[in-house]
Amino acid sequence: MKIDYLIIGQGISGSFLSYYLNKKGKSFIIIDNNKPNSASKVASGLINPITGRRYVKTWMIETIMPFAVGAYKFLETELNVDLIKKKTIVDFFTTPQMKTAFEDRLANDTSYISKEIDTFKFTPNINFAFDAGTILPSYIVDINSFLDSYKQKLHQNNQIIETNFEESLLSFGTNCIFYKDIKASKIIFCDGITSANNKWFKNLPFSFNKGEALLIKNDSLDINFVYKQGISILPIGNNNFWVGSSYQWNFEDDAPSDAFYNKTILQLQNMLTSNFLVENHLAAIRPANIERRPFVGLHPIEKNVGIFNGMGAKGCSLAPYFAHEFANNLVDKKPLNPLVDVARFTKILSQEIN
Ligand SMILES: Cc1cc2nc3c(=O)[nH]c(=O)nc-3n(C[C@H](O)[C@H](O)[C@H](O)COP(=O)(O)OP(=O)(O)OC[C@H]3O[C@@H](n4cnc5c(N)ncnc54)[C@H](O)[C@@H]3O)c2cc1C
Repeated sequence: MKIDYLIIGQGISGSFLSYYLNKKGKSFIIIDNNKPNSASKVASGLINPITGRRYVKTWMIETIMPFAVGAYKFLETELNVDLIKKKTIVDFFTTPQMKTAFEDRLANDTSYISKEIDTFKFTPNINFAFDAGTILPSYIVDINSFLDSYKQKLHQNNQIIETNFEESLLSFGTNCIFYKDIKASKIIFCDGITSANNKWFKNLPFSFNKGEALLIKNDSLDINFVYKQGISILPIGNNNFWVGSSYQWNFEDDAPSDAFYNKTILQLQNMLTSNFLVENHLAAIRPANIERRPFVGLHPIEKNVGIFNGMGAKGCSLAPYFAHEFANNLVDKKPLNPLVDVARFTKILSQEIN
């Protein structure tokens, strides 16, 4: 079988890259091993324009958020499934210092944040001591619906093989790669944390972190809001809420932990006035890196091998925009943003490959 691109991984990254390559008339096959707790399957799907204790604007948000929203809306029509909903984040300050940081930011820059909200309407459901502000617009993407419905389409077109990719079976010809009965011009790794063991890209500065979440049921919370108070509570449909998350840089495995469970239950009991039922506990490892910028592009020495990875905690918004940019680069030779181009690591990637 002869194709243009062999893509490893059907998380958010591999899905969007294949989507835009297809739009450019290129053929591809995805190989995915269906890891039950990949980062994409566990993510809450939030696109949040403001992050951190200092209420900093997310990198390139003015460009990336509208692009992502447009991409998911377009996919809603193409895949005939609901994928994205606009929400307001209500940030209940955990300390007086957080309130001051929010108000300082608001005094200098009003984009994406506001205090024009009647906080009293939340008092029947939420306990809070230090006022609240809002972040808007934000969006929740139903990533699992996207991955599932896109996979169905891939199956209809014979564009996915659900199996494990084995690096030892990959070989190279002149300007092409061979994998089993597949001959492709290029192989692109979109395999999340697995890329850190990959012969070509293992030297990239990956810095993974583990995140956990509880899925709860609650009949009292208004589903038009995302609630933040140390943890975030996101409405995901049918009175179900995603609650999380943690950023653990030291971890032994990717399994749900008792420590997270116990801490989060306490936080929920303090925050909510109503009862909730825990329905699931999830954990996954984010394919993050030290620079907090994606890894995009072809290997500087092995030009038939590429990577689309390093989405960290923001794959839902970064992947659509940079997949589009990478497809333009691969097909039309348009330059990549140097801040995401793996060419910035040419020196370390040129070290001996073995
Ligand atoms: C708890 C948590 C909460 C998060 N919340 C958000 C959020 O609200 N918003 C946001 O934007 N981001 C969030 N993220 C981050 C987001 O999940 C990631 O940025 C994104 O999912 C990365 O997608 P990916 O496709 O690059 O990698 P992955 O999702 O890891 O996908 C890799 C794919 O490759 C496959 N694969 C791996 N190895 C092989 C192999 N050898 N053979 C075949 N297939 C293989 C896997 O099965 C998987 O399908 C969160 C992450 C976590 C853990």
